Amino acid sequence: MPENIEEATSLLVRGGRVVDPATGTDGPMDVLIVAGAIAAVGRGLSPAPGGRTVDASGLVVVPGLIDLHVHLREPGFEDKETIATGLRAAVRGGFTAVCAMPNTAPVNDSPATTAWIMARAKRAGLARVFPIAAVTKGSRGEELVDMAACAAAGAVAFSDDGRPVASDDIMRRALLAAAAAGSLVIDHCEDRALAAGGVMHAGAAAARLGLPGIPSSSEEVAVARDIALAEELGVRVHIAHLSTAGGVAAVREARRRGIRVSAEATPHHLFLTDEDIRTPDPNFKMNPPLRTAADAAALREGLRAGVVDAVATDHAPHTEAEKARGFREAPFGVVGLETAVPLVLDRLVRPGLLPLGRAVAALSTAPARLLGLRAKGRVAAGADGDLTLLDLERDAAVDKTRFESKGRNTPFDGWALKGAPVMTIVGGRVVFPFDGGGRP
Ligand SMILES: [Zn+2]
Repeated sequence: MPENIEEATSLLVRGGRVVDPATGTDGPMDVLIVAGAIAAVGRGLSPAPGGRTVDASGLVVVPGLIDLHVHLREPGFEDKETIATGLRAAVRGGFTAVCAMPNTAPVNDSPATTAWIMARAKRAGLARVFPIAAVTKGSRGEELVDMAACAAAGAVAFSDDGRPVASDDIMRRALLAAAAAGSLVIDHCEDRALAAGGVMHAGAAAARLGLPGIPSSSEEVAVARDIALAEELGVRVHIAHLSTAGGVAAVREARRRGIRVSAEATPHHLFLTDEDIRTPDPNFKMNPPLRTAADAAALREGLRAGVVDAVATDHAPHTEAEKARGFREAPFGVVGLETAVPLVLDRLVRPGLLPLGRAVAALSTAPARLLGLRAKGRVAAGADGDLTLLDLERDAAVDKTRFESKGRNTPFDGWALKGAPVMTIVGGRVVFPFDGGGRP
């Protein structure tokens, strides 16, 4: 029997420490995957006849990680990234599924483009792709897409990420339409008039570098708008890449009042500040920008407390030539798929700032819950056979020359980190290491 067919049939992950916030599991367990789904979780499980066994002793076994916010760039910007290269980066980074933002060319604002992306992803055969369709046609902020049709084609959420809906009325109608389709709007919260012309956070560091700033208020007023609409309509809204202490406070207060708002934070906003921009290096240019140390601390505390539900990368690859245009002219965005998990493990879990279970919740359980993916985000019989194996002691120094992503635009190059994904399993198939691996 060929190896790949054998793998797809049955896989026993033996002897790992299973950490699954969804079921409250934290202990040594075996996980048996049969025909793509988890068949059993327990001690002393036997492999199915002819099945493969992976020795996970010394490793942590968690539900497959899901990145809510990824720019795969295809169709249209294949010089930055393709679905295939983005998915290689995803599985190397421990992600079994990624959500693909719609700011491609064409913009994903239709069932046809949604279906095309899913077919392309299936052909790559690595991580799963859940397309996020645009809120408005062409992300022009004018006319709503047919959300029900996009959702039926496989879109898991709607976002005009990067070109956020400016009109309060259109956002109001978008939230209603998404709710009617049983889906979610993910909003990049930015008042573009307030942010206009800015290239980094408006503060002392920008003043020192002589660069135009993006004020915190540009995020905070948009977060407040979304919360007011969600409250009035009684519907959900998800805030993308929260970056300000004011935004965290607004989400915390809204949640306390029962408003259905959720939020994500990126590793770069959790671990870097505008003071880290000592020279105008375009690999530190992203939108929202790196904020102050107080903002980053508020995000970390929000993540610990669960006000920030999820960690998402906002993986945004660009070419070297684009990033070489200088800080003012270079496009916004940094890559994140291959550094997110080591950063969270090394900088939050290792020093005891975030329990491992809370980290897994932010990277898997919460994204699955937010997107309504009931067969994901947990290690339990009946769930999809998607697992990530972590080695908390593995050296994971960041070397951008070794990225699978086409993008090298990271602010973390050279960081010494410990703790890394060592095996990624999708539907019972080992998709990373790329050679199928033996002992991870
Ligand atoms: Zn965005």
